[in-house]
Amino acid sequence: APSSAVTILGTGGMGTALALLWPRKGREVRLWGRDPSRVERIARQRINEDHLPGVRLDPAIVVTADPARALDGATLIVVAVPSAFLGATLEDLAHRAGVPAPHVPVLSVIKGIEPGTSARPTEIVRRVWGQRPLAVLSGPGHAEEMARGLPTSQVVAGDQLELGIQVQEALNSSRLRIYTNDDPIGVELAGALKNVMAIAAGVCEGLGLGDNAKAALITRGLVEIARFAVACGGRRDTFYGLAGVGDLLTTCYSPHGRNRAVGLAVGRGERPETVTGRSLNIAEGVTTCRVVVEMAQRLGIDMPITREVEAVLHHGKPPRLAMSDLLQRLPRT
Ligand code: 13P
Repeated sequence: APSSAVTILGTGGMGTALALLWPRKGREVRLWGRDPSRVERIARQRINEDHLPGVRLDPAIVVTADPARALDGATLIVVAVPSAFLGATLEDLAHRAGVPAPHVPVLSVIKGIEPGTSARPTEIVRRVWGQRPLAVLSGPGHAEEMARGLPTSQVVAGDQLELGIQVQEALNSSRLRIYTNDDPIGVELAGALKNVMAIAAGVCEGLGLGDNAKAALITRGLVEIARFAVACGGRRDTFYGLAGVGDLLTTCYSPHGRNRAVGLAVGRGERPETVTGRSLNIAEGVTTCRVVVEMAQRLGIDMPITREVEAVLHHGKPPRLAMSDLLQRLPRT
């Protein structure tokens, strides 16, 4: 019988891909989702049609909407729900199944910041479930590719090195290479901030501004998000690694990127409300840009690209005007 259980909260693409990739030797892998009818369909079809079509789930993976079945005896909990819903999800689980014991570690794969509180996902976990070992897994990792077994590298970072090493040892394989890093704030913020840059890159592409403009935007975007993370206690060198430039590249160039797709549609002339309202796949950058603009104001940091993305998505600024304002100021910053 399995001596330990890994519980993944969230049946999005990343949650489902991790359930597939997590080795099951001596361990039960559980995938929990909030919506009973959707979970029931995944459990019956052994395919997550909404988020990972065409990829079969091993019959040994427990797919459940029952909080107690998901959490009882879990030795590691992975959170993979959109940042805006994480707090409510953890509160609901605590209410229905109790707060997991404080020695049970939580690994976050969420790339966002909580609206209203400006909390990073690991800070939300600590606030709702209390002090416990925490780590983040980030880097260039499109779930569609990971689930198909394509080679991927990720970074794990936490307050305690042991948890990072534990995750590294569990997940390392010929198709997944995990590096450890001791800058959890930088790694967690990098994942959230690059989504905003991917929206900007998509807008640039949608407007047909060309490869030179897009590369300039991404390069200046890297400088901008690193500056922000340093002001929040992260390290600049993290941004030259997988969680920084690595994830920035994959998200800004990927044909299946959700954040890039939002920018692309808006750049091509669609209304932002229409674009952000229709997708089942949440593009985290849409909410993250708002929070980051507020935080940057408080911290006294210049975030020109983030500011323009926010103005386009939330205040009706024409994308072409936003881009020309930006490209005119780029050489001076
Ligand atoms: P999107 O949400 O834009 O698809 O980005 C996914 C990602 O974080 C890849 O590492």
